[in-house]
Amino acid sequence: MTTSLLATSYIAAAVLFILSLKGLSNPETARRGNQFGAIGMLVAVLAVAVHAGVITSPTLLGALAVASVIGALVASRVAMTSMPQLVAILHSFVGAAAVLVGISNHLAPAVELAGAERTIHDVETYLGIFIGSLTFTGSIIAWGKLQGVIRSKPLMLPGRHLLNIAMIAACVWLGVLYLRGGHEALPELLIMTAIAGVIGIHLVMAIGGADMPVVVSMLNSYSGWAASAAGFMLSNDLLIITGALVGSSGAILSYIMCRAMNRSFLSVILGGFGAEEGAAPAGGAVVEGELVPTTAADVVSQLKAASSVIIVPGYGMAVAQAQHPVKEITQILRGQGKQVRFAIHPVAGRLPGHMNVLLAEANLPYDIVLEMDEINEDFPTTDVVLVIGANDIVNPSALDDPSSPIAGMPVLHAWEAASCIVFKRGKGAGYAGVENPLFFKPRTRMLYGDAKKSVDAILALLKA
Ligand code: NDP
Repeated sequence: MTTSLLATSYIAAAVLFILSLKGLSNPETARRGNQFGAIGMLVAVLAVAVHAGVITSPTLLGALAVASVIGALVASRVAMTSMPQLVAILHSFVGAAAVLVGISNHLAPAVELAGAERTIHDVETYLGIFIGSLTFTGSIIAWGKLQGVIRSKPLMLPGRHLLNIAMIAACVWLGVLYLRGGHEALPELLIMTAIAGVIGIHLVMAIGGADMPVVVSMLNSYSGWAASAAGFMLSNDLLIITGALVGSSGAILSYIMCRAMNRSFLSVILGGFGAEEGAAPAGGAVVEGELVPTTAADVVSQLKAASSVIIVPGYGMAVAQAQHPVKEITQILRGQGKQVRFAIHPVAGRLPGHMNVLLAEANLPYDIVLEMDEINEDFPTTDVVLVIGANDIVNPSALDDPSSPIAGMPVLHAWEAASCIVFKRGKGAGYAGVENPLFFKPRTRMLYGDAKKSVDAILALLKA
């Protein structure tokens, strides 16, 4: 393949990746965006393999076949609720790849350079391995926390910030030795790789509960920068561009999520935000009052009398897969001339956009699915709110209890409506593990049971 054809393929793949990101920013175009990304990746892999003359290499074909089968199997089998874990573990692969590329590049450089060019290249290799190692271990810890194999409570080591600073200083010092030592400096490189791995573990271990989504998207960003650094090491323009796209979109998403959760961006990067040293990581004030149960029949009579309804979906709706009957209820109520809208909290569920994907899957019209800022002021004028499997995102203590672990996080004001029905199975807490005073408010009623069963019962009564 000629160099100009390679460059053209790279540009085509880069454009497809940009179109992919654009498509993924809206549920209506997300599927097409995904396809653009897959085609872009195919173009990129073919271009690189043809240009390098390895397209018929049995090793490459074998690796592609095995990886494609594993990817297809894992992606088709994963439950929607386990998607964040999958994303986290995939980030760890990108980190590991950056480390392996960096070390092999150090052992057998792809290009022989001298002078300033050599120094710049060595800095890129060193940084790539540093970010890659941190991403690798950090992503594995994030996977463990999301999967529940590592407890989600933050690990608050005494003097943890000093520990981080000391480890980063050691990496900088080793970096200077590495630049001076050149090819002989493999031990410095390996020691730094190990320290960066410990930094990754320590940063993510220090983060717990409700703050995990930002970590997943930060690791997404880190994995992009690691890929970009690998692109510099290999002098591969497309990898640099792709890595930068992933790195910057992950950073922007993290920033948006930080704003949504009222957290500072810097404190996320430093780890352990939202929890001071020595402070109890979970708890909040004791809630007084009583939980009042209700029945599907009562909910139906409330819905029949209502003229405006807001549905707040949360993690439990995803677990129960209740989105399809919820759509049917919405259709029936709208058919009766009632206003029915969905209120989407930015971190509802277990991954950004989780609820939008579920509602899109059920083919709900996008114009009745509103973001938190667009709908929060409408709760006081709403007759009935259905909180389906949501908890933390409708917890008023985030606003009025400074001792709550989720203090400061903006939430949906479900308690301001004339009536609020909460669908949940029992007394289970939300992801942050805190009590929710909304459930004890006088205008709140609890509809216990699996969300799908409860919604099905309401649907059957509405149809009857
Ligand atoms: P929560 O995890 O706060 O609450 C979910 C509620 O659903 C629980 O109280 C549970 O109660 C109930 N539930 C679970 N299964 C069912 C079921 N089958 N039927 C009915 N109810 C069920 O979810 P939210 O969506 O309110 O909040 C998301 C939380 O997750 C936030 O704390 C957020 O920070 C965090 N998070 C978000 C991520 C993201 O990117 N969106 C990623 C990682 C974490 P019970 O057991 O009694 O049924």
